Amino acid sequence: MILVLAPNTPPDGSAYRELIQRLDQLTGIKHRVHREIGDEVTLTEIYLIGNTAALNPEVVQQFPCVERIVRISEPYRVLGRHQQNDNRVSSFEYNGIRFGQDTFHVFAGLCAVDSRESVETMMRALRGHGQMCSRMGAYKPRTSPYAFQGYGKTCLPYVFELAGKYGIKVIAMEITHESHIDEIRDNLRTTGNATGVMLQIGTRNTQNFELLKIIGRQQEFPVLLKRGFGITLDESLNAAEYLASEGNRKVVFCLRGMKTNMGDPHRNFVDFAHVPTIKRLTRMPVCVDPSHSVGSRAVSPDGLLDVFHVTAQGIIAGANMVLVDFHPFPEKALVDGPQALRLNELQHFLDDTALVRETYLKRATRAAQEITS
Ligand code: PEP
Ligand code: MN
Repeated sequence: MILVLAPNTPPDGSAYRELIQRLDQLTGIKHRVHREIGDEVTLTEIYLIGNTAALNPEVVQQFPCVERIVRISEPYRVLGRHQQNDNRVSSFEYNGIRFGQDTFHVFAGLCAVDSRESVETMMRALRGHGQMCSRMGAYKPRTSPYAFQGYGKTCLPYVFELAGKYGIKVIAMEITHESHIDEIRDNLRTTGNATGVMLQIGTRNTQNFELLKIIGRQQEFPVLLKRGFGITLDESLNAAEYLASEGNRKVVFCLRGMKTNMGDPHRNFVDFAHVPTIKRLTRMPVCVDPSHSVGSRAVSPDGLLDVFHVTAQGIIAGANMVLVDFHPFPEKALVDGPQALRLNELQHFLDDTALVRETYLKRATRAAQEITS
């Protein structure tokens, strides 16, 4: 059960204190407070965890400060959509950029940081095209222990410094261990927080529950959670719920294809048809990763790369974010060079995404008209 309190309920007021006292008296039920501090309004939700079936909703509704209650019987308690009019807070802002099921951002950048020159050339190009988000891999989980594992914390000073120089506000960066959070935080601080980082959890770690819990316990950095490549969608959505149940609801869910030979000739079986499903089941913004789905620069007879095609398929289905590999010098890339788009394709890629996004918005407007007519 979720108690939605009246907007701007002061946490030090007597009514709020009385509410907390009453909740403390409920046997077998714990509560967790989630406060969303906005520019104009602060919203407070209290999650009741435990044997809530025994509670009388009419009694709870009368508790001080409670505006309404949301009963939850479905899974994905925090991130799920539970009622037709479930309009609880569903977007978040980070470093000046808003993420929600109605926003759209492209995160183009390096799969793996390999040199200062690559980072600078990439970021300069992004700024030249009005982009404020990027992807930069420092910690790379690799299939072979002998493969390049990423430069780790040694590249962070120049990655963050250059991000600041070129106006990049949010960098998606995979982490594979909790210590990486501190390394990122420390290096951001040294650069005067020149940029922001969205912590990426890779497909190999989707069910690394201890890592999820630790990342969930911090609320400083938002999270980009990749779908597990060989588990059900339900299992991956529960992984997102691990983050949220620990307190971090700034979660973007990313589709990146499923590992199956049925996906051949693509590296992974493209699953972007699930974008609307996830938006229906949860309130998370949904990202698509065309690079790790397709895994090559295959081009179809119409002249469009498969990466362009599947990106468009994700966006026309309502995707809110695109995570895509670019490289200024693909022949020098240490990871995934063959699937990277080139800088001379950046303008075309951005134009193409904008075109498809515009079409999606028109389709959604048309559908809304059908409902109201
Ligand atoms: C990546 O985005 O660099 C990556 C390794 O992706 P995934 O975890 O989806 O394989
Ligand atoms: Mn990669």
